[in-house]
Amino acid sequence: MGDTTIIGSGEMGSALARALLRGGFSVTVWNRTTAKAEALVEEGATLAASAAAAVSASPIVIVCVSNYAATRELLQTPAVAEALAGRVLVQLSTGTPKEARELGAWARARGADYVDGAILAWPRQIGGPSAVILVSGEAPALARAEVALRCLAGGLTPMGAELGSSAALFAAVLAYLAMRWIGICHGARICEAEGLGVAGFGEVLAGLAGALAEDARHMGEVIATGRFDRPESTLATAGGDVARLVQHAEEAGIDAEVPRFAASLFRRAIAAGYGAEEHAALVKVLRKAGGAASRAARSDAAGWGDAAVNDLQDM
Ligand code: NAP
Repeated sequence: MGDTTIIGSGEMGSALARALLRGGFSVTVWNRTTAKAEALVEEGATLAASAAAAVSASPIVIVCVSNYAATRELLQTPAVAEALAGRVLVQLSTGTPKEARELGAWARARGADYVDGAILAWPRQIGGPSAVILVSGEAPALARAEVALRCLAGGLTPMGAELGSSAALFAAVLAYLAMRWIGICHGARICEAEGLGVAGFGEVLAGLAGALAEDARHMGEVIATGRFDRPESTLATAGGDVARLVQHAEEAGIDAEVPRFAASLFRRAIAAGYGAEEHAALVKVLRKAGGAASRAARSDAAGWGDAAVNDLQDM
C-alpha cells in the first residue's frame, strides 16, 4: 500500500504531489482528466485507474480539487465511499466551515478519520518553510496525517477539533486579501493616471510590509478587546482621506467604484457616532449589518499558538 494518495492534479494538487515525491513518499495520483496526472507519473507517482483505486492505494487520502461540490461528486460513489473506511481523508480543497463540518460527518459515518485543511500558500511555496496549511480535526486523525502534512507545509497550523475552524480562518484571510488585491489595482490606476511607475508602487508596498503587519496585529487586538477609544488616527481622519480618493478618481477620470464603496462604509460609521474612535471601529457598522461577534470571541478564547499567529501575520 502506498504512503499517500493525492486526488486532483490541478495547479495545487500537482504541487502537493511533487512535494511528497521530493520528501521520499510513495505517491498515488488520480485526476478526472488523466493527462494532467500523467505528468506526475514521469516524476515518480503511480497513476490509479479510478478514484476508488486511488483511495484503496494509501492509508492517507488527500483531496485537492476545485471545491467541496467536486469533492462530494467524486467521493460519493458507492465504490469510493466503501474504500474510505479505515483511512484518513484530508480535504485540502477550499470551502466554507459548514461544508467542512458536513463532509467530516459524512466521512466519519463511513469509518474514515477526517482532517479538514485550508492552504494559505501559492503552489510554488508548497513543500517549503513559508507554506501555511491550517488543519482541523481530532488529534488521532491529525497524528495519522501529520508527517505527510509537515512535508507539504513548514507552517502547518493545527486549529483544533472543530472541523470548520480552518475554513473559517481561511475565509477571514481571504476577505483581507481580496480587498488588498482590489486596493492594489486601484492604486495602480492612480499611478497610471498620474504618470508614476506601477512597479515602483509595488516596491513601496513591499517596503511597508513590516508596518502593515504591525497594523494587522494592532487592529486584531483592538477589535478583540473593544478598546476603540485610544486612536492615534481617528476614524473621521481616515474617512476624510478615503473620501479624498473619490475626489481624486473624479478629478483624474479613473473608475471611482472602489473608493466610493470604501467611503460609504466610513460615512456610515461617522454618522453612527464612531468618528472620534480608532478606524478599527468600522467593524461596529459591519456587526450591525448582520451576524454576531460570538464565534470570533470563541476563537480568541481558544488561544492559537504563537507560531500560528506569527505565520498568519507575516502573510
Ligand atoms: P485547478 O488548477 O483549477 O484544478 C482544479 C482541480 O479540480 C482539477 O484537478 C480538476 O480536474 C478538479 N475538478 C474540478 N471539478 C471536478 C469534478 N467535478 N470532479 C473531479 N475533479 C474535479 O485549481 P487549483 O489551483 O489546483 O485549486 C485546487 C484547490 O486548491 C481549490 O480549492 C483552491 O481554492 C485551493 N487553493 C489553490 C491555491 C492556488 O494558488 N492555486 C491556493 C490556495 C488554495 P480536471 O483536471 O479534470 O479539470
